[in-house]
Amino acid sequence: MTADEVTSGVPVDLAPLIERAEERSPGAVRRVFATVGPDLFAALRSSGFRRVALQVPAGLTRGARELADRVRTEGRVDVVLVTRACFGACDFPSPDEVPGMDAAIVLGHSPIPNVRLTLPTFFVEMRHLGGDPVVLAEMLAAAQLPSPLGLVASVQHMDLVAPLEAAARARGIELTTGEGDRRLAYPVQALGCNYTSAEQIAHRVRGFLFLGTGEFHPRGLALAVDRPVWSLDPLTQQLAPPIDRARLLRDRLLLIAQCRDARKWGVLVSTFAGQNRSPTALALIRKARARGLDAEALVFGRLDPADLLGRDFDAYVNTACPRIALDDASLYPRPVLTPPEFLQAIGERPLTEYRFDTYH
Ligand code: SF4
Repeated sequence: MTADEVTSGVPVDLAPLIERAEERSPGAVRRVFATVGPDLFAALRSSGFRRVALQVPAGLTRGARELADRVRTEGRVDVVLVTRACFGACDFPSPDEVPGMDAAIVLGHSPIPNVRLTLPTFFVEMRHLGGDPVVLAEMLAAAQLPSPLGLVASVQHMDLVAPLEAAARARGIELTTGEGDRRLAYPVQALGCNYTSAEQIAHRVRGFLFLGTGEFHPRGLALAVDRPVWSLDPLTQQLAPPIDRARLLRDRLLLIAQCRDARKWGVLVSTFAGQNRSPTALALIRKARARGLDAEALVFGRLDPADLLGRDFDAYVNTACPRIALDDASLYPRPVLTPPEFLQAIGERPLTEYRFDTYH
């Protein structure tokens, strides 16, 4: 994606949604914008902030210098680029990481309402305005997808939800949406650690449709809900077949089974504001010790697989981002489980009841 593509205009009807995302975050200084554009620049100019840290997601690093230049010129602020990879609104820059900065701009993510900010932050969601709802609804009808279907969307494609619902309904397909819990800025939203908008409606639908790109969310969603998950890329107009949930579960259960004999557990705890589940970590340590197992907390900011090399643990349970265990397990020298999987491994929960590690 080029800098020009991400600086396109903001549609008027986004305003109520954006206000809602800001309202769901009481007490924190945060602003939400659809794109890098005039609204953001005007807000920066009137903010009184002089120095701003700019955090850019991996997909936009090539154009980061150009974006920084534009923010600097049009927002009339000094800009420093944060180079640490960022994966969500859970790991925004802290004042210690960017000393001397008055505020941060986080690109590509909506705020996580129940995560306390430590710096005034401008979230720029990088909304995509493309996708023809009529063409997409016709694709759903032609593929004879079941109805009702639950709909879940990445924040970048949220603007397409209402028009797609209407176009699908006109073709006999009912798309149903859920509100989600306090970790979600918007109803319908998919977050890699939270699919509560889908879980709430799973009993009422025959399957789910993910609106967005890539396999990251469809795979997470398939672990969270016991329903077929199709995905629809609104830009390439590709409808992908359902995710193989049985295979995902089999892989996780194999890993859990490998850990049944683990005696020494490392309990991973992140210091990032939106990934820190210290109370969960303490509860897991107590459970392990009550069963005569060794368990030790390991604290980190961003976890690097190399940090776990040479350590004397049989397995790990990760209380930070659930996707570390679910997507990156093969990168680690020992098995890494989520907290619900850990409870299965130590015999606290039955192997037959898999539960996605929802971060509330
Ligand atoms: S915890 Fe993981 S999945 Fe959740 S927002 Fe952060 S990076 Fe994304």
